[in-house]
Amino acid sequence: MSTSHSKSALAECSDCSELNPPWASLNRCVLMCDACCSIHRSLGRHLSQVKSLTHQQWRETQLKMLHQVVSGGSNKIWEYLILDPKRNRDNVRKPRPCDPLHPVKADFIKQKYQLLAFCKRYKNNELCSLEDMNMQLHASVRTPNLETSFRLLSLGANPNFYHPHKRNTPLHVATQERQGLQVRAGFFLE
Ligand SMILES: [Zn+2]
Repeated sequence: MSTSHSKSALAECSDCSELNPPWASLNRCVLMCDACCSIHRSLGRHLSQVKSLTHQQWRETQLKMLHQVVSGGSNKIWEYLILDPKRNRDNVRKPRPCDPLHPVKADFIKQKYQLLAFCKRYKNNELCSLEDMNMQLHASVRTPNLETSFRLLSLGANPNFYHPHKRNTPLHVATQERQGLQVRAGFFLE
């Protein structure tokens, strides 16, 4: 896969829409401009592990996964509540490239990834319970639907979760079902 090809589908910063973002977050599966990347770094690697699209080596499978997940709408996971005006009760506005880094972009990024303030809520206004997410991950790894698995992993689902009835883990299932990319998704942070 050539670099120029990779740029066409990955053309804007997921946080402020600046064009040609040179950074990716591996565990959030989003792309960032230089300015937004500096805030991602300040969040810590457990929240956002950044990698240069232009100055670091990428395995082809890793780049393929990034494409698949970004073009599949990974950013909608983090901005679900602000994408639809009906859901956006607080009228949150996504930063523009020209907005100042502090406080506008920095505050937005912290709310988006640290507080998960714009993620979809489930009953009782909660993010899905961890056990539910682990069960969902167990099911989704049987399919080629990486986006679902990735969303669950990035929200904290455990690829080594031991299913009490099926007596195996999502990684076992993905391996059995020969879902190679799914198996790698579990190790995407390597
Ligand atoms: Zn940006």
